[in-house]
Order: sequence, then C-alpha cells, then structure tokens
Amino acid sequence: MNKITNHLPTADLQAIDAAHHMHPFSSGDELREKGARVITRAKGVFLTDSDGNEILDGMAGLWCVNIGYGREELADAAARQMRELPYYNTFFQTTHVPAIALSEKLASLAPGDLNHVFYGTSGSDANDTNIRLVRTFWAMQGQPERTIIVSRKNAYHGSSVGSGSLGGMAFMHDVNSMPIPDIVHINQPNWWAEGADTTPEDFGLQTARELEAVIEEHGADKIAAFIGEPIQGAGGVIIPPETYWPEIQRICKKHDILLIADEVICGFGRTGNWFGSQTLGIEPDIMTIAKGLSSGYQPIGAVIVSDRIAAVIDKADFPHGYTYSGHPVACAVALENLRILEEENIIPYVRDTAAPAMAKAWHSLADHPLVGDTRMTGLIGSLALTPDKKTRAKFRATEGTVGLICRERCFANNLVMRHVGDRMVVSPPLIISESEIQTLITRARKALDETYDIITEKGLLHPAP
Ligand SMILES: *Cc1c(COP(=O)(O)O)cnc(C)c1O
Repeated sequence: MNKITNHLPTADLQAIDAAHHMHPFSSGDELREKGARVITRAKGVFLTDSDGNEILDGMAGLWCVNIGYGREELADAAARQMRELPYYNTFFQTTHVPAIALSEKLASLAPGDLNHVFYGTSGSDANDTNIRLVRTFWAMQGQPERTIIVSRKNAYHGSSVGSGSLGGMAFMHDVNSMPIPDIVHINQPNWWAEGADTTPEDFGLQTARELEAVIEEHGADKIAAFIGEPIQGAGGVIIPPETYWPEIQRICKKHDILLIADEVICGFGRTGNWFGSQTLGIEPDIMTIAKGLSSGYQPIGAVIVSDRIAAVIDKADFPHGYTYSGHPVACAVALENLRILEEENIIPYVRDTAAPAMAKAWHSLADHPLVGDTRMTGLIGSLALTPDKKTRAKFRATEGTVGLICRERCFANNLVMRHVGDRMVVSPPLIISESEIQTLITRARKALDETYDIITEKGLLHPAP
C-alpha cells in the first residue's frame, strides 16, 4: 500500500480544506458534503491519492501535463534557476537569459512570422494581453474605432474579466456585467448538438459565415480581431467540420481582421503537431499559449505575435505587463519542457503511434448503447452521451445530469475524465503508452456500463421531448 504517513488522515484534510479553501468552479457546500479528493503525488500518467489509490489521469491535470508527471529534469531546472537568479523583472530595459532563450525557442517553433513573445503567468492573462494588444495595434494605425473582437458561444479563453468576456460561456457572464463592451459572440461549429439536419460540411460554412454577418452589421472598420480555439477544449472538445477554419481564415484575410488562435490546449503536441493551427490549417496573426508550454510544472503563459504586429506595437511604450512577465524560473522550466518534447520525439510519437491507437480504442466505444458521437484528434477527444444515437437526442434530464454520473463512475474506477454537459472529454498526457491507452478504455467502458445501469434504475434513460 502507498499509505502516506506524513500528513493527517484524509477526512481531516478534507474538513480543513472545506473550511478554508475556496475552489475554482466548485460549490463549497458540495465539497463540504462529499469531500475533495486529496492528490498526494504523481508519476507518468498516474496520480496517487491520500488513500493510496492509483488513478489514471485522462485529463493531464487540466489539459496541461503534456510530458507526464515526475520529470526530475524540470525540478532540477527550477532549482538551478532559483539558486542563480530566482527573480528579476523584464520591465524598464532589463532582461535575463531564461527569457531570452525561451523567446528565441518559441519564435523558432511557432509557424510563419510569429516571432515575438509577450509573457504572463496564465492563459487568462495572456488573452487579456491580446485584448489590449489588438486594440492598441489598430489605434496606433489611426483606426481607434476598430475595437470589436469576435468570439464564439461556448468558447473558453480564461476566467479573468477580460478573457472571460472573450469566452462564450453564458453562466460565467451572469451577474458580472460581462462580457465587457465590444465583444461579439457567434455560434460555435458544434454540428452534433446544433447542426439539426444540415451536413457537417454545410454547418461548418454556415457557422463561419456568421462572422460575415457581424462584419455586415458593424462594418469591417470596427472589427479588430477574431479569436478561437482550433479545437474547443473546455466547451466539450468540439472538433469543427473541415470546412470551418478555411472559411474563417478567408473572411479574416479579406477584411484584414486579425486572427487569434487560442492554442492554450492545442499547443505543444496535443493534436500531433507543435500547434493546433498546423493540424487544422490556420495561419494566425497571434497565438495564445500556456498549459503545455511548461507541462503545468510552472505557471507561465504568453502571446506570440507576427512581425507585422510587433513592428507597430514596438513604436510605443505598450503600457501593459505583469510583475511575473517572463519569470526566470518559469522560463527555465518551460525551456526544459520543450527540450524534452523535442529530444524525446514526443510529438512524432503522438502523431504516429499514440493518436492512432487512441482513436481506434476510443471509437470502439461507439458500440456502447449510451455513446453517440466519438471524436479524437491527436490526443484530445470527446464522446456524446445520448439516449438515442440515431436522432442525436439529448436526455430529458437537465443537461449534465448523466455526464456527472459518468464522471463519478470514472472516478470510482480510478480514471479521471471530465464531463461537459453530457459530453465526456479526454486529454491524457502525451507520453501515455499503448497499454495505458487500453487501461484507460477498459476503465471508461466499465464506467459507461455502470452509468447505463444507474440511469436505467433512476429512470433517466429518456430523450428530451
Ligand atoms: C485553460 C484555458 C485558458 C485559460 O488559461 P488559465 O491558465 O487557466 O488562465 C485560456 N484558453 C484556453 C483555450 C484554455 O483551455
């Protein structure tokens, strides 16, 4: 047994946690009732909890631990950097070696002429940077009215007031005077749930052309940028129809609207290339990065911008920055993470070995009576739970009721998968082996079987009218 002896019993830890720790996106009352799972250590793709359970992390933390847990090299890089220079800022004409080296590396990895990096500590603050950056870019060229940023409903771009406004999750906007002004949301390319009887291809074009409708309504001279995740992550892993991104790209080019690819999840190997933009055929002017940049070992995020944008912004003192922009320890750890991704050929491994194995195993779940759509690109995927796959029906029960039951059955079977409404999503560490993929699928199928039994018993196996 992996009993941890150097801390309190689980129940005590849970009680103290519930008394004093406010959790993100969680109900404190519910945590008090059920107790949070206490994770104590991790190695490879497995987490260990305070009761000694070994849990397969099908979510790579929060879509971020791309190289897996327990890499000593990253701990060493952090310790080395802390001893040498634990902190210095990058304001007021100063810099340091880790920020210099990471910027050069990112410029070499990023596609096209994305050669200039502005750092923060998260995806949220990076997208806040984007809001200021694109509006400043247009203002400096005599177009200060070019302020509108177009995003999508059900997008996720972070949780700060700015990035949460870019996001299209209505429940995050309620009672917060969000979105902030000049953010417009169009429909998402979620064919399975919203495509009715159009084909996926037509639905891709139709949802992309909503951008044209916004241009017609407001005028291209009011629109600064379009932002989108190549594949929506937190919205339920929505992989768009193939027609979608080329059409968005065409419209942006035609009207000189800056295209921001939010690569926070898709970046650093998740889709089998360095960036999701490469997998989905997008040529962005700006990319947002975070999460896999350091595999979650340090909090770091950034935006990477094109030569054209940097040339304009460079003409002024851009009045923006964070104390920890380009933090030396975070940069050193990110650099080491990129070295491992590259030298261990992890991205080719995803593309040529893990992704095909994962796709095959994942699609094998499609024969389950609860499973409708199964999707997988690289190592990010989802499946739709449905009471009737032929009609793509929703459940009569409130959306998310069945998804939550399934997530809890996954947990009970030592598998972390998330639910977004009644979609189950998966995004394991990129180093997951083929036998670990089989373990993941075996546990997922067992959880689906148990979910089926529970909802049958509870009378929830009914389509919405
Ligand atoms: C997680 C996420 C963010 C926000 O990143 P944080 O580091 O949590 O602030 C932004 N965009 C996307 C696509 C994300 O998945």
